[in-house]
Amino acid sequence: LIISLRLSLHLPVFCFFFHFLHPLLFFFYSLLILYTTAQKKQSGFFRLICRRTVFLLLHKLYRNRLEALMETILEFQNVSYAYHTLDGETPALDHISFSVKKGEFIAIVGPSGCGKSTLLSLIAGLLHPEEGQILIHGKSVELHNSNIGYMLQKDHLFEWRSIYRNIILGLEIQHKLNPQTKEKAKELLATYGLQNFAKARPSELSGGMRQRAALIRTLVLDPDLLLLDEPFSALDYQTRLTVGDDIGQIIRKEKKTAILVTHDLSEAVSLGDRVIVLSARPAAIQQTIPLHFEMKEDTPLLRRNAPEFKTYFNLVWRELNGSE
Ligand code: ADP
Repeated sequence: LIISLRLSLHLPVFCFFFHFLHPLLFFFYSLLILYTTAQKKQSGFFRLICRRTVFLLLHKLYRNRLEALMETILEFQNVSYAYHTLDGETPALDHISFSVKKGEFIAIVGPSGCGKSTLLSLIAGLLHPEEGQILIHGKSVELHNSNIGYMLQKDHLFEWRSIYRNIILGLEIQHKLNPQTKEKAKELLATYGLQNFAKARPSELSGGMRQRAALIRTLVLDPDLLLLDEPFSALDYQTRLTVGDDIGQIIRKEKKTAILVTHDLSEAVSLGDRVIVLSARPAAIQQTIPLHFEMKEDTPLLRRNAPEFKTYFNLVWRELNGSE
């Protein structure tokens, strides 16, 4: 649309075909017909002003849609991957295609050993696709310079460092430690209730607090994309529910884009905007299930009590068991 407008290509025709998208476009259409009939009599400057006005109005109308279109962070295009060892070839991913928009929370589930962690390693650039390509911000994964945060099952906090010094470790390694980033680290500690533990050692914190510290260590680097590989599976069931709720809310509050890999279906349904169900190895996309909950306050814990929860859970369950 923008290109057509910039090149001043048959605007009235364009608006006529697209007026069904928005009633106001019909108004623009009529306006444009008037302008074009009067066009010959107007000066070039006047025509330029007319085009600019219409361009700005249309841009205002469609800004949200354009932004949604443009802000695709991650794109998998027909990606396949196989491990090659002396014992032979192990195909892990089979022609996977999907995209993730800014701010989305995607949950990926699949039978154990199907290739979920392989998929995350490909996004992180630790492995390279054998077929197809992975784009981050429209650039091939090898070329992009985006910041990707990884959160794993284990929190990997170092006992010989205080919580604060653990949190700034990534900043130190990336040579990004300065007064602003130090301030941000302190702010995140305060916002997420760990300021009193800044000088504590990791062993003095509960499992949930440790995971929160691990998330802050990732967030302080301001990642464009967060990869969560079974981050709660080392916790006991009760802690897992509260930590999942806690971490899920922090990620939403910080407006981060996240991809969660989990074998826990209820975790996927309570946290995601979409659940991607993978088939058994080599993983192909079996189904994508968008999640929508009609609730005023949408949190992972509240979702578990919502009427839609069971329906979505059963849908994912059926898809998964159909693939086994
Ligand atoms: P998931 O995370 O879904 O459990 P993975 O992505 O870890 O599965 O592994 C997918 C398949 O690839 C498994 O069958 C696993 O045995 C195999 N695999 C993983 N890593 C390697 C490797 N380094 N070499 C050979 N095979 C591997």
